[in-house]
Amino acid sequence: MNTLPAQPVAVVGAGPAGIATALALHTVDIPVKLYERYSEPRAAGNIVNLWAPAVKALFNIGVDIDDIGAECVTEFQNHKRRVRARVRFPNGSVEKWGGFLGLTRPDLYERMTAALPDGMLVGNSVVTGVADKGDHVELSFQDGSRVSTPLVVGADGINSVVRKLVWGAPPMREHDLHVIGGYTYEMIDTVPTEEAVVAHSRTIQGSHTGIRSKGRDGYEWWVLEAWDHDKPAPVDLKRHALTLARDFPPELSQMIRSSTPDHIFRWPIRDRGPVPETWSKGRVTFAGDAVHATSPYAAYGAGMSIVDGYFLGQLLNGVDLADRDALTSALKKYEGVRVAHTAEQVARAHMLGRIFHKVPAPIRPIRDYVFDHTGFLQKQVGDSNPAAIAAQLEEMGEDIFTPAPALATAASARS
Ligand SMILES: Cc1cc2nc3c(=O)[nH]c(=O)nc-3n(C[C@H](O)[C@H](O)[C@H](O)COP(=O)(O)OP(=O)(O)OC[C@H]3O[C@@H](n4cnc5c(N)ncnc54)[C@H](O)[C@@H]3O)c2cc1C
Repeated sequence: MNTLPAQPVAVVGAGPAGIATALALHTVDIPVKLYERYSEPRAAGNIVNLWAPAVKALFNIGVDIDDIGAECVTEFQNHKRRVRARVRFPNGSVEKWGGFLGLTRPDLYERMTAALPDGMLVGNSVVTGVADKGDHVELSFQDGSRVSTPLVVGADGINSVVRKLVWGAPPMREHDLHVIGGYTYEMIDTVPTEEAVVAHSRTIQGSHTGIRSKGRDGYEWWVLEAWDHDKPAPVDLKRHALTLARDFPPELSQMIRSSTPDHIFRWPIRDRGPVPETWSKGRVTFAGDAVHATSPYAAYGAGMSIVDGYFLGQLLNGVDLADRDALTSALKKYEGVRVAHTAEQVARAHMLGRIFHKVPAPIRPIRDYVFDHTGFLQKQVGDSNPAAIAAQLEEMGEDIFTPAPALATAASARS
């Protein structure tokens, strides 16, 4: 028999990591409360792509994934449509989960929030203190209230208060890049929604993917360039995006033109540097950007955050949370499956940003010659990265109750 904790696990932050964690714990019958500083989850931004592992995780934690996004075949191109790499997953590995999907961020939040059982989300709860007392953790809130919990999951994003309190905050790593992105439902005959194109000129990225939203087809697009983090943002985002899109095929400008200003956002790109090797301390652990904030070059920050939640559910299933040693061992397993993969993705995304936007001007023609005429990019972003992502599907096991063989030993030892 499992001994379940009398008090709920406390998940801090209702972004993709926090909602996924709460849903995953609920799926395996662990009581949980999800504390969010705002009254309800707020989609930070407008566009998002999901790789297959995130979709598998969403399905297994009770989120409706029916027609959730446009399945896209992805190509890296130069700005004159020359194909540099095709994203190829190992045969048959991702079909069930759609490979790479384009959707809107509000849709993702809506679907995830809809899966939360009544009463799990506690809005207007700004966490300000975390004290591990050995047999429980005391979580404090801005309004002076406190709760006691067997486990805190810090899922409070890149500016994680929980991480700051538990580990101290590493400095922000500014990439000195910014991205402007938007979406539109105005269709273009020559651009299929099954297409994702990540294109680069000498200094700018101009990309698009298909999206599906509530049964409607459309496109999301983004342009990305070097931009000092302390330089003020362009005043007119749409006009600036159109300027950046000038050297790309005209369809990109068409998408930008047909996007309404309320569907256009800008983000400076930053992370917190390399992913820490240890995430957990006593009865506190982390998920999502709190430990692996990632440049959008990975298009995977939300996806990895969702998969974190899935693994927390899978690895805590049946664990007596009152037993500190059992909890520690489960959290070690969790780090075992998450740290290397997320660290690699964060490093790769940071490196891609530097290669495409930060190499000195005299080197750029040589770089582009290599990308246009050799298999370098195909190897990196076309084959090796998709293989690493597809391998996650195996690592996730059959479902949240059925860990992969390598993890099953730990699971059976606990039951
Ligand atoms: C331009 C851009 C494009 C991106 N594109 C993609 C993409 O295509 N695919 C992809 O997978 N990822 C993408 N990402 C990354 C993705 O957005 C993040 O990785 C993801 O949102 C992280 O989720 P999270 O839940 O960890 O953190 P967040 O989304 O930041 O959520 C943290 C939550 O914690 C709450 N919170 C904070 N502090 C407290 C507190 N003290 N008390 C209570 N609550 C608190 C916040 O209000 C928030 O709701 C992109 C990011 C950017 C910037």
